[in-house]
Amino acid sequence: MFIKDLLIKKERLVSFEIFPPNKNFSIEKLYNVINKLSDYNPDFISVTYGAAGNRNYNYTLEIASYIKENLGIESMPHLTCITSTKDKINDTVKEAVDKNLKNILALRGDLPDDPDFDFPNPLQFEYASDLVGHIKKDNNICVAGACYPEGHINSSSFKEDMNNLKYKVDMGTDFLITQLFFDNNYFYNMLEEFDKLNINVPVMAGIMPVTNSKQINRIANLCGAKIPNKLIKLINKYENDKKSMFLAGTNYACEQINDIIDNSSSSIHLYIMNNPQIAKGILNNISI
Ligand code: FAD
Repeated sequence: MFIKDLLIKKERLVSFEIFPPNKNFSIEKLYNVINKLSDYNPDFISVTYGAAGNRNYNYTLEIASYIKENLGIESMPHLTCITSTKDKINDTVKEAVDKNLKNILALRGDLPDDPDFDFPNPLQFEYASDLVGHIKKDNNICVAGACYPEGHINSSSFKEDMNNLKYKVDMGTDFLITQLFFDNNYFYNMLEEFDKLNINVPVMAGIMPVTNSKQINRIANLCGAKIPNKLIKLINKYENDKKSMFLAGTNYACEQINDIIDNSSSSIHLYIMNNPQIAKGILNNISI
């Protein structure tokens, strides 16, 4: 099913984001995780594509297909374009269609760290909007895009990023998922900006519970999310107590989600870091 139709049919969706296997996380372990996640009835599960320095692109479609075919849960592979040729993108989209996948999260991808990186020449997909337009041109697929409540780190201003986002939506983006954020005011401010710019597609708030004090600084640095004092205090208090950090971090995320439910019509996308306990901890404590 197209997720854009689910977003119309149901008042509020809850989805999970998972990542493919890496050197610390085997495919067998991941399938176990996915099987457990089905107990929590997510509306869909999205699967990242080479995110956060992981260059393992091979499993994304396979995992998305497993979720849909074996568990009967809608799925959405992510697809990045900045380092890809048109042929590679066409092959990947065709494979997704052949696997009966109906949704794709179209992304630019992070710029490679290597200043001498050999980009495809000509560069056919400089921005996610190029990918959105390309997929939509020849395929009946629901296409999602990313948005950034604090502005994207490569943009010189929030305003500039919002204008670029408006163009991405006009190119055919069916709905948006936000980057993680820890202060809801950024999210509400972005929704106000959407109203001004006539960005009318549904928005899913991307929430990541801080359950591990070491990982959070790296993630926040990577995406530029600011960590409010209240959360810094919790991280400092529980940095050597894993169990309490897990509880405090999921509670903080639940407070964020319940506030979003009270103040907007947005759906919720959970960055669960391949951990079913995070899904459980959140879903037991939110008012959806
Ligand atoms: P874009 O929408 O192209 O924006 C990138 C930058 O370019 C922004 O600063 C924007 O303002 C600017 N821009 C856009 N259009 C124009 C234009 N026409 N002219 C000038 N400037 C423009 N990364 C992965 O590698 N794999 C994943 O699976 C993955 N999943 C993600 C899931 C979500 C929900 C989110 C929020 C991010 C994800 N990312 C992933 C990270 C993402 O790839 C990076 O944030 C990347 O830097 C930007 O991708 P984008 O699609 O938002 O890019």
